[in-house]
Amino acid sequence: MSTGDRLTETTFAQRAHEQLGKSFLRTAVPKATDHAFSALQSRFAGHDYEALRELGRQIRAEAVANLDAHLAVLEERLTANGVTVHHARDAAEARRIIAGIVKGADARKVVKVKSMATEEIALNPALEADGVEVVETDLGEYIVQLDGDRPSHVIAPIIHKTRGEVRQTLSRVAGRELPNDAAELTGFARGALRDAFMTADVGISGANFGIADSGTVCLLTNEGNGRMCTSLPRIHVSLMGIERVLPRTEDLAVMLPLLAGAGTGQLITTYVNLLSGPRRPGEPDGPEQMHVVMLDNGRRALLGTPYQDVLHCIRCGACQNVCPVYRQVGGHAYGWVYGGPIGAVLTPLFRGLGAGGELPQASTLCGACDDVCPVKIPLHDLLHGLRADRADAGLAPRRERIAAQLWSLAWSHPLLYRVSARVGWLGTAALSRLPARLVARTPAGGWAASREIPRVARYRAGSGEPR
Ligand code: SF4
Repeated sequence: MSTGDRLTETTFAQRAHEQLGKSFLRTAVPKATDHAFSALQSRFAGHDYEALRELGRQIRAEAVANLDAHLAVLEERLTANGVTVHHARDAAEARRIIAGIVKGADARKVVKVKSMATEEIALNPALEADGVEVVETDLGEYIVQLDGDRPSHVIAPIIHKTRGEVRQTLSRVAGRELPNDAAELTGFARGALRDAFMTADVGISGANFGIADSGTVCLLTNEGNGRMCTSLPRIHVSLMGIERVLPRTEDLAVMLPLLAGAGTGQLITTYVNLLSGPRRPGEPDGPEQMHVVMLDNGRRALLGTPYQDVLHCIRCGACQNVCPVYRQVGGHAYGWVYGGPIGAVLTPLFRGLGAGGELPQASTLCGACDDVCPVKIPLHDLLHGLRADRADAGLAPRRERIAAQLWSLAWSHPLLYRVSARVGWLGTAALSRLPARLVARTPAGGWAASREIPRVARYRAGSGEPR
């Protein structure tokens, strides 16, 4: 029976094949990601980006290395500020806690700020099953929700959609044909969302950072919806991955420019919200209650493992923008919440090697993600490690294991090495002369469908090297 879990019900190859058939995606994703990468380069031109990245790495490494100590301070300060702190070991517990807060408030409508953590715990279907109306208020997430779709990029959820598709979706909601004009379309969405802000009982957000020394949730948005969701409804709930803690308020001086610059090339995100508790007596606005739900869901288990560094991630999306695989197949091919290099690392770690173990194969290991990551996560090493773990667990397909064993055998003996080099040279020379329709029937057909087959250099006896 289908569970609706694309990760376990389909393979990466099937999902990628489906996405590669979408001509708009093949053009739009590289264009948008090129634009984002150029914006990053312009943003930091003339600045010592390497020094800033190193500072970012140190701050995140310190936060994660002493995670429990910083979380304890954060909880103490949040509580002192009047915030109710909850702990969720996994997605089910997080859903239960948030559903309980919503039910306890007798809430019928919830407005949400874009949050990958709430995607990770599949919060919306759980609240909707309780009869609660959930409205995503980031424009991209709103479109995704109306379409029953999923975001395909960490910070640009509808990178895969055309303006025409957005127009059709909003026209359906409007009950009339809207013009194909960005200002008109956003104007319509703004009106619809404004009603939701004014009538919602609960606002739910993620947390870009939880700042320990002041007991503050930092929330970054470019559309102002974060401020509406966290100040207009009676109750604000923030779902924070436990790794998002920062020790000190001054750490924002490094993390804000890094996150905004690496993600969108901005100097700083348009709205920087520092939320330090519910409305106090005499204050004109703000929620009556503020809750922070600290989400583990597999994070603590990574501490002390070779994968601890992935917890430094600030979800900027820069690694997706430069990944040659993501740029072709988009985010949906990865089958779960996170796509691109960060998704190929997080998914097998959070969902297990059985479900997500093939994703680290979806990489050329070119290292572009390492070079761009604003907090210097060694994604390429982590992908390598996960490939090895999968092989050690006996989860690699039989064909792949046999090929690796044969390769290892051949290159462990001089004679077999020379023979394999000659076979490679002859084989690729022969393939390069075959018509494409015949190449398609060979084992190299999948590769040759979208790329040229490289020619193996000819081995010269006595040289010791192929050349
Ligand atoms: S791994 Fe690095 S580049 Fe990728 S989303 Fe996280 S912080 Fe950004």
